[in-house]
Amino acid sequence: MIVARGMSILDRIGIGKIRVYRAPGYEISDRIAEDPEAELKRFDEALQKAIDQQGVLYEKAKEETGEESAAIFEAHQMMLEDEDLQDATREIIREQKGNAEYATKIVFDNFAQMFAEMDDPYMKARSIDLIDVKNAVLDFLTGNDAASIQGTEPVILVAEDLTPSETVRLDKSLLAGMITREGSSNSHTAILARSMNLPALVQCQGIDERWDGRMAVLDGCNGCVYVDPTPELLEDLREKRDASLGKDAVLEGLKGQKSTTLDGRTIMVSANIGGPSDLDSVLENDAEGVGLFRSEFLYLNSREEPTEEQQFAAYRRVVQTLAPQPVIIRTCDIGADKTIGYMDLDKEKNPALGFRAIRICLTRKDFFKTQLRAMLRASAYGNMGIMFPMVSSKWELVEAKAVLEECREELAREGHETGSCQVGVMIETPAAVLIADDLAEEADFFSLGTNDLTQYTCAIDRENARLDRFSDPHHPAVLRAIQMTVDAGHRHGIWVGICGELGADTSLTETFLRMGVDELSVNPASVLPLRRVIRGLDLSPVPGSP
Ligand code: PEP
Ligand code: MG
Repeated sequence: MIVARGMSILDRIGIGKIRVYRAPGYEISDRIAEDPEAELKRFDEALQKAIDQQGVLYEKAKEETGEESAAIFEAHQMMLEDEDLQDATREIIREQKGNAEYATKIVFDNFAQMFAEMDDPYMKARSIDLIDVKNAVLDFLTGNDAASIQGTEPVILVAEDLTPSETVRLDKSLLAGMITREGSSNSHTAILARSMNLPALVQCQGIDERWDGRMAVLDGCNGCVYVDPTPELLEDLREKRDASLGKDAVLEGLKGQKSTTLDGRTIMVSANIGGPSDLDSVLENDAEGVGLFRSEFLYLNSREEPTEEQQFAAYRRVVQTLAPQPVIIRTCDIGADKTIGYMDLDKEKNPALGFRAIRICLTRKDFFKTQLRAMLRASAYGNMGIMFPMVSSKWELVEAKAVLEECREELAREGHETGSCQVGVMIETPAAVLIADDLAEEADFFSLGTNDLTQYTCAIDRENARLDRFSDPHHPAVLRAIQMTVDAGHRHGIWVGICGELGADTSLTETFLRMGVDELSVNPASVLPLRRVIRGLDLSPVPGSP
């Protein structure tokens, strides 16, 4: 049995066979195929799996975001079925005795290059699709098909690192856990794993490619993974896992109850989501609405920029399903660690301090307007709010609101219905805290993004695992910044919430409530545990205290 340690991001146990994942772009060997017939068979099988996979992705996307956004998977299927492409690949295997991976790479890359050189912008853009389908075939050839975990057995994924877009595309149905050598507890990948309620370890230095296919237990309660566990240990941890999976009767009993303290103060406990596919867990955990819909995950989950119709379908689904509960959608927070190929963003020296979030939206106005129009149209279907991320100056908020108004007027002229919606600001930069009084004049609410607020206040890169020792989520400067924001918001009669990971930290719940925080938005699995803590608090002043 091998034991390796890491930093756990969820107190849960996962059991499954290890699948080692390597990021696309890994080396393909040009070794000669000793048995071309066997290579042809491997190619045909991988090709068929990739074709089937596109069919599954088509159905899933159709269900989640509508037919229009699913069409790309149909196009991928047609590309894979193209006879010229298939014949050229088979020829390299047969004539040149190339192995299946090598032949796939050479032929698909050539076709992609041909498309890239075309004048028609539509055809040019198809070259990226060819790379996508090439990766799908290669993944099946190399057993690296992380995004489409197949079979019937639960899998623990092991990787050097996973980007937010790789994580968001994982097929969650058979995923029992995730282990990475890199990563930090506040990275978006960790946040995603938490919102998927997935046991996960980051910074696990001991991971080894040779673990592939071996049985393992990820013990998130103790921050370690056991590879080839002894039968006794496996049994013991399986029992513990099953016991913790059993419904907690006390938490179940809190469903339908308010999050009210013993002395009668009620605060909102809502959920953070990444898209319509999280709706089930919002309902299952009885959240009181959505306090943060990270809309950029729609963009990360898509091969090209989602259209107004696709976004409208996704926002409407969430808003309509949860109505009359509030749903706060944050405008696209792309940049820094959340990069998207089709956005064509320059590489930057300091991406966390660079062109991201509201800065991109205010620079690329058409891109921004597509999203705002989709949101405003969805606002007609329930109780919706919009908030802007990474604001650091008042003019940014004023300008963003002006674009929103422009969209509302356009939609009215076109005969589209829109609803009223609150407009808020995320407080994520020290600058925003210091000018909170000014921002409050233009906002209906504040939502504290404590992940970025901690990063920028303490000058600690949230993605850098080596800095975890210096990173203190309870840093007095951050707590003081929260208090200043709440005070400024309340001076101007607006509500103030927390939507960063700190909101779920129950060791701070009493502190936040005493500060006057009005709403906590947390990953869905934390809603009921948080409600339990709130209902046990008594905030009445201690006799004799000032
Ligand atoms: C935050 O910064 O706290 C936040 C909620 O936004 P994100 O984690 O997506 O940057
Ligand atoms: Mg943030």
